[in-house]
Amino acid sequence: MPTCTNCHNKWSWKQTFKKMMTMKSEMICPYCGEKQYQSKKSRTIAPFLNVIILLPLLIKLMFDVSKVLTLSLIPILGVCIMLLYPFVVRLTSKNEFPFDR
Ligand SMILES: [Zn+2]
Repeated sequence: MPTCTNCHNKWSWKQTFKKMMTMKSEMICPYCGEKQYQSKKSRTIAPFLNVIILLPLLIKLMFDVSKVLTLSLIPILGVCIMLLYPFVVRLTSKNEFPFDR
């Protein structure tokens, strides 16, 4: 779970999830009100998590799985990734993506 770099308070899963849903690069710490950004490192992990969504398609290619099963797995995995995402988020006080708005 992310920890604020300013006040060193750990954000709860719910707080992190809510901040993520705003899709903004800056996230205000619920404890001290300072701006926090998602660190470069945690952002590079994100695409790898998204790849998991494509796993059913890969399984479909290798094994003879029904289309319905493959397609129903994708949204389930999507939800799982969203739920797991707050665990990998790390914070930084500097915006490492200055051109990202
Ligand atoms: Zn803070």
